[in-house]
Amino acid sequence: MSFSSIASMLSAAQESGQPLYAVIRDADCQENGYDAAASHRQIAALWAAMQQSSRQYCASDRSNSGLIGGDAARFRAAAEAGRLLGGTYFQRVTEEALKVAECNACMKRIVAAPTAGSCGVLPAVLIPLAEERDVPEETILQALYIAAGFGQVTALRASVAGAEGGCQAEIGTASAMAAAALTHILGGTAQQCADAYAIALGNLLGLVCDPVAGLVEVPCVKRNVIGAVNAVSAANMAVAGITSRIPVDEVIDAMGEVGDALPASLRETGLGGLAATPTGRQAAERPRRTLNASVPQAEPLAAGRIFAGKGLTDGQNHGNV
Ligand code: SF4
Repeated sequence: MSFSSIASMLSAAQESGQPLYAVIRDADCQENGYDAAASHRQIAALWAAMQQSSRQYCASDRSNSGLIGGDAARFRAAAEAGRLLGGTYFQRVTEEALKVAECNACMKRIVAAPTAGSCGVLPAVLIPLAEERDVPEETILQALYIAAGFGQVTALRASVAGAEGGCQAEIGTASAMAAAALTHILGGTAQQCADAYAIALGNLLGLVCDPVAGLVEVPCVKRNVIGAVNAVSAANMAVAGITSRIPVDEVIDAMGEVGDALPASLRETGLGGLAATPTGRQAAERPRRTLNASVPQAEPLAAGRIFAGKGLTDGQNHGNV
């Protein structure tokens, strides 16, 4: 990508008088040799796939290990019974994050945004907002360009892979992308999008990658929830005029440095953190079920370089698929 910093993206938008999303879209087109119409088709296809990744949820599905399944349905039932805190949007954010991340654990098709492990965060904040506020699709697509552009800068300057930078690089980046996207939809400025990104990423700095049994299941599914909820809070703060005291590119660099400082046991090896607890170790020793033949296995689609060059994929991939 032609931008090595978010500051340079913001400057390019300011100097050209173009909206931030258009600057990011045009840079992506230039780099990859396609036109704006092709780029639009691609980002629209990704948005459609994100929505589908939620619709395909099935409460009876279980992951191959048996560790994951049914939690989004449990959450929905409790919400409908009026037993939960938070408004409708906030509750749906949690439900959607669980749904899509569970689908990933059950090998269904998701959009890696920026990774498969963090696939639930963006759909979780965007799907309920689009439905509840009747947000035009074009506005959602603009927000996705901003999320993708900022995510690409993070991949370039630091990492979006748990194996390199810990979960802060995966869920942290997804959360920051979602915060920037939400801020755009809520009418925030380009600088406020950058502030939301910095706040969300900064709030998850140091989060380790410790998948139980080496599977993208525990704690990954529930970490999608914290990434989504953190994104909503960061976007709300940015739209309210609260700024990040540390400039966004410095926050990204700090995330990269923290990732470098993490021991190998906390970078997707399954040897530390929750994976190393007695229960985590027991789960790793348990025999796996054979894959349920009824679980649909979709073919991955090429989806261009947006979302850190990834896009649609089947579930359970680690990091940068
Ligand atoms: S695999 Fe690691 S980085 Fe990815 S969601 Fe799970 S804990 Fe986070």
